[in-house]
Amino acid sequence: MKVAVYPGSFDPITYGHLDILKRGAKIFDKVIVAVLINSAKQPLFSVEERKQMITEAISQTEYGVPVEVDSFEGLLVDYLRDKDIHVILRGLRAISDFEYELQIASINRKLANDVETIFLMTNNMHSFISSGSVKEIAKYGGDVTDLVPSHVVTALREKADYV
Ligand code: ADP
Repeated sequence: MKVAVYPGSFDPITYGHLDILKRGAKIFDKVIVAVLINSAKQPLFSVEERKQMITEAISQTEYGVPVEVDSFEGLLVDYLRDKDIHVILRGLRAISDFEYELQIASINRKLANDVETIFLMTNNMHSFISSGSVKEIAKYGGDVTDLVPSHVVTALREKADYV
């Protein structure tokens, strides 16, 4: 059984992430979306909120294979080793993602030679979406309905009321 881990911050999940997930589900027998707990970053949403939003987004689509949601702290390769998984799934938007992704993939390969990173390219329609820009637009009351699922729009609105 070919299992892939799709790791990321997902702060919050966007249609870009979901597009990669859908493509990944066509290739793998199971995909685990793994939210990285990074104490150095200041996320807008807590890990639990992010996991909930991902779970709800996943429930709206038929993937054909199991898609699980999890979180991890520390090195991704240690998480993979614990679960005996050997594939990392990442998305590429534009050439600008490449340098960063190449660096991470190379480091992960150095740390775990039996792990491969697979990159999938998003639909052009979604290539301009980033969690960062979604948060920036939502913060100033802009319309993000084409960028994230409706429950994420609601969650962003609720956050905006607090900050
Ligand atoms: P990170 O903080 O680790 O970069 P993100 O949550 O921003 O995590 O992204 C997780 C993965 O999804 C990364 O591989 C990123 O390149 C990819 N990704 C993010 N947005 C998009 C998008 N719009 N289209 C395709 N891939 C995307």
